[in-house]
Amino acid sequence: MSLAEELDAVDAGTAGTVDRHSTTETFESTAPASGAVVGVFPVHDAAAVEETVARARTAAEQWAALGWDGRKQRLSAYRGYLARRMHELADLVHRENGKPHADAILEITLAVDHLAWAGGHARKSLGPRKVPTGLLAANHTAYLEYQPLGVVGVIGPWNYPVFTPMGSIAYALAAGNAVVFKPSEYTPAVGAWLAAAWRAAVPDVPDAFQLVTGFGETGAALCRAHVGKIAFTGSAATGKKVMATCAETLTPVLMELGGKDAMIVDDDADVVAAADAAVWGSMSNGGQTCIGIERVYATEAVYDRFVTEVTNQVRNLRPGSDGEATYGPMTMPSQIDIVNRHVADATAAGARVVTGGTDADAYPAEGYVAPTVLLDVPENSSAVQEETFGPTITITRVRDAEEALARTNATTYGLAGSVFSKSKERGLDLARRMKSGMTSVNSVLTFASVPALPFGGVGDSGFGRIHGEDGLKEFTRAKAITRQNYALPVNLMSFSRPASAADALARVMGMVHGKHR
Ligand code: NAD
Repeated sequence: MSLAEELDAVDAGTAGTVDRHSTTETFESTAPASGAVVGVFPVHDAAAVEETVARARTAAEQWAALGWDGRKQRLSAYRGYLARRMHELADLVHRENGKPHADAILEITLAVDHLAWAGGHARKSLGPRKVPTGLLAANHTAYLEYQPLGVVGVIGPWNYPVFTPMGSIAYALAAGNAVVFKPSEYTPAVGAWLAAAWRAAVPDVPDAFQLVTGFGETGAALCRAHVGKIAFTGSAATGKKVMATCAETLTPVLMELGGKDAMIVDDDADVVAAADAAVWGSMSNGGQTCIGIERVYATEAVYDRFVTEVTNQVRNLRPGSDGEATYGPMTMPSQIDIVNRHVADATAAGARVVTGGTDADAYPAEGYVAPTVLLDVPENSSAVQEETFGPTITITRVRDAEEALARTNATTYGLAGSVFSKSKERGLDLARRMKSGMTSVNSVLTFASVPALPFGGVGDSGFGRIHGEDGLKEFTRAKAITRQNYALPVNLMSFSRPASAADALARVMGMVHGKHR
């Protein structure tokens, strides 16, 4: 029986045994395309969460004791397991999240690649190393190492139910921590599959990666369970609540929040390539991508050609749930109202809908949003300032790239973005000055597929980093050690030092540093 079939067999009566807790309350996860039940899961209460964290604490010691090689070997076994069952997991993602099977494969591929990188680079990034001691401690050796935090709580969203939480899970595990994962209530089956896959692939430390399921209350219980850190990915509004709850126990937090990412299309850009990237960046996954492109600023020189190209491409998109569909239904039904409100606000303020929109005849079917292109949207409207999280894009004409950058940087968010420019110098300069944690030049979203690059935002998009060396360090605490190798004739940090020692020290400091003005 495949893992997915085993999970399918879970019903209200057995849901409490999925993760070995007894609980009476359960909830259903349903397929956004059909409404069919995908699985039934326990609503874990605070006691169940604490019990899970306690087991994880013991597992964290076993996991840490395995050392770099032992952990690397088991993380490899896990990624091998995922890679061999890609289609099975992709089917489940398609059913529970709604995205096309092929997009789910792409998402899982990225997660597997990050697992490989994290496992392969943990020792080099975090292991003990000697650092220079400097003048005052020349008779010592100084050691720096990055130690695990123990148990890391990961609270995840539904839009990339494999890739997004794995950005925290893989790096936290590779750094030597155990993980307790609370997936979104919209994608618990995918979370349960990932945890069951761990138990199957790493049977000697099964509790190093465990699952709790439920709603916000279960997440809040994880925040209160005295874990070493909470890695939260979700909306800015929930992020504030998570921080407030974590403050009760002084639990540190990593915040991966929403975005309102922009693309800048400069005078010399390859307009066809920019349009292709803008359409993918805004419409793939039904626009439910934290680093999706929601706004484009195109210069006078390219605006008309860009709008024509984008519109032609968008008219060929077809939302649906069959094998040919370009994107699926909205995973979270309530998001449809937000998307519609943004489109309605924009049109009420004078924006033009080139294609799509909220008219009845633009609607593909219940639960879907039509791919929508908006022009002349006022900068202060919700469609430009707030996260829409749907298959919409605003295109705005600007004088030049400097105006585009100023407008790009004028929202409270700062997750990622994109620049299209033929000039390498200009493209990189705009990328550096963009108020965001990540920028792709002449493409979209590429930074997410480079495991060595850190991932995270600024402003209302959060703080802290997953991925890369920074992502490994995020789940550790730096530990400093010195060892005295031999005693000096004069020990400055002793009451036995001679009275003349301070004068001698002042003279040496004067010679070494005093010349600097
Ligand atoms: P959400 O904030 O509604 O929920 C996220 C998670 O928090 C869920 O598991 C939910 O059950 C849990 N939660 C809710 N209330 C809680 C509470 N009081 N205490 C603890 N946990 C609680 O977000 P969502 O709708 O699942 O995801 C979409 C959002 O996530 C978008 O804003 C998107 O931009 C963002 N996102 C960000 C990134 C990133 O890396 N920056 C990646 C993916 C998604």
